[in-house]
Amino acid sequence: MDDLAEVFAGAGALVVINDDEASGGGHLVAPAEGVTPERLVALCSRGSGTVSVAVDGAVWSRLSGELAQSAQLQTAHLKPTHLLSVDLVGQDDSDTYAGWASTISAIVDAHPGRRFASPGHVTVVNASVCPDSSVVRLAVDAVVAAGGVGAALLTRLSGRANPAEPARGREVFALATEYGYPVVTVSALQALARLGPVGVVESVSARLPLVYGMFDAVGFSTVGGSADNLALVHGDMTVGGPVSVSIHTECPLGDLFGSSACTCRRRLDDALRLMSSQSRGAVVYFRRTGPASSMHHSAAPIRSLSSLEVLFGHLGIRDITVAPTSDPVDGLPVSEEIVLPA
Ligand SMILES: [Zn+2]
Repeated sequence: MDDLAEVFAGAGALVVINDDEASGGGHLVAPAEGVTPERLVALCSRGSGTVSVAVDGAVWSRLSGELAQSAQLQTAHLKPTHLLSVDLVGQDDSDTYAGWASTISAIVDAHPGRRFASPGHVTVVNASVCPDSSVVRLAVDAVVAAGGVGAALLTRLSGRANPAEPARGREVFALATEYGYPVVTVSALQALARLGPVGVVESVSARLPLVYGMFDAVGFSTVGGSADNLALVHGDMTVGGPVSVSIHTECPLGDLFGSSACTCRRRLDDALRLMSSQSRGAVVYFRRTGPASSMHHSAAPIRSLSSLEVLFGHLGIRDITVAPTSDPVDGLPVSEEIVLPA
């Protein structure tokens, strides 16, 4: 996972776990913006039965300021700093999924005609007074990093056997897989939120003489991924037209031992030779991790174009053409123009 906007647009939510994943449960996090009754049903039924709305300082100030002006709160001398409960005024029934969705939409959308009553059925938490590493704060940071308004829906992922109890340990992963939600640790989400929509972190770089010429080996991680991936870069990227790039996914039996059962090693050699013959180019070498890992790679995973664009920008490559030696990349046609040198 390396693009929060893609995650929220696709899966709709993600599951946040502690860095020490064995110890705790998981929290479901989703953007509050654009919420529908159906999405609330999904979150609430998979979570603790209700959602909180975590908001940033701006949304909190606006909401609490509006409520403080109402006679109700003035009378009670209430000046909430952390927690509010509200309903949107003018609904037939505030305590339905449709009512919650209307109230949440009104919190996100600062329409001047809206009015709130407190107490109500929707709980609002001020994330700006929470610690940086708290899930409440992270939920809002993640939604903002994905380009949304600073308001996130938050609930505890519930267990299957006993929905009254939070899911724990391996059940968190099993349920997240079943629901189609990515799982991310607190520290990985912090890094993602800090980097914005897409994150690529360079780890090391070194000169790498190959039989095909001199390359720079640049190690990088996609945030949230554990493996150190490599970009093998040859020549000057800053001048001239499009730069040939080839995406390669690790295949230990092919790459290391030259197994003839697949074309991996040959495509890798061809790619490096091509970059050399064109005096420049880049081979992006993705390590394989996780349960899908195998000694042979069969189906190449489709790489996220947006994270590749960030990497290419980092390497100084503005204009690319995908070499025929490459794994397929979603959104990029493979160039038919390039003829591989013999
Ligand atoms: Zn292979």
